[in-house]
Amino acid sequence: MRSPKAPGGRLAIDAYVEGVLAGDRAVLARAITLVESERADDAAAAAAVLDALLPHAGRSQRVGITGVPGVGKSTFIDALGMHLVKERGQRVAVLSVDPSSPLSGGSILGDKTRMERLALEPAAYIRPSPARGFLGGVARRTRETILLCEAAGFGTILVETVGVGQSETAVRSMTDFFLLLMLPGAGDELQGIKRGIIEMVDAIAINKADGDMRARADRARGEYRAALHLFPAPADGWVPPVLTCSALAGEGIAELWDVVIAHHAHLEANGSFARRRSQQALAWMRELVATGLETAFRAHPDVAAGLPPLESAVAEGRTTAFAAARDLLTRFRAS
Ligand code: GDP
Repeated sequence: MRSPKAPGGRLAIDAYVEGVLAGDRAVLARAITLVESERADDAAAAAAVLDALLPHAGRSQRVGITGVPGVGKSTFIDALGMHLVKERGQRVAVLSVDPSSPLSGGSILGDKTRMERLALEPAAYIRPSPARGFLGGVARRTRETILLCEAAGFGTILVETVGVGQSETAVRSMTDFFLLLMLPGAGDELQGIKRGIIEMVDAIAINKADGDMRARADRARGEYRAALHLFPAPADGWVPPVLTCSALAGEGIAELWDVVIAHHAHLEANGSFARRRSQQALAWMRELVATGLETAFRAHPDVAAGLPPLESAVAEGRTTAFAAARDLLTRFRAS
């Protein structure tokens, strides 16, 4: 036995804290598992570990990356991660917010081997997506995981998500820079950009700008640039640039990272960086309150007893959603 154990197969709090601070990847992985745990008896230990590590977190560049399946996210992150490790001396952590398919319950980002080069790189840490159904559809504790990775000395955190709306808003709210990857395409594809997403991005990169797709990518770049002008000027004064890249050939990757650095300098210069971080902290707090309320609600004995029959009654049309919700909330409040 290498580390002192606490009940439940956990490490002692100090062992988590010291292991993470020492950059021990095995301990980091276990610490992430601890904060992801939904077991009530893990919550206090997770909170203690986070409290101890919080002063060591925060000093990283947090970058969100989104795009439809097949746009090349894993290829891009593999190329970018290798560039950061090899050319810029960075330590890189890769996390994913996988919204899981609402229909199949399966993971969208998938179980295939992704980021093959980066996975072998000692200066990189890739947190694999949780096994199918493992978390029962509950959002992973990505914010906490970011902090753990920062405390473990990772200076760049890449948070990947699939472009399906809700998860994008979540990732945008926990990162300093939000990148949208797009496929080369002409006018009709412009229709497909959802207005809400465009308003969130700090840059657009048109991937697969290689071979016979290069010309199309250049055309798309011009069109996206023109389209971006139709949006109101962003509050932080940063106009999102549109770039082209080839994740496969490793082209445009260094230029993209230069944009991330320029963006950071821009935000620092006008005070927006601190504002964005404080917005991240606020969003985190609100999320914790919402999760805590939901947990307390479901754990309430009268709610737990009433929930299944009321759900059936609503589904079968025997009562209204409104009446059932009011009933449940009344049970929750009456204690
Ligand atoms: P993801 O689903 O967004 O993670 O996409 P993947 O990284 O798995 O890439 C999907 C497919 O596109 C794979 O077959 C990649 O080899 C290919 N691909 C990714 N990037 C590029 C690129 O820059 N150029 C070309 N030609 N193909 C690419």
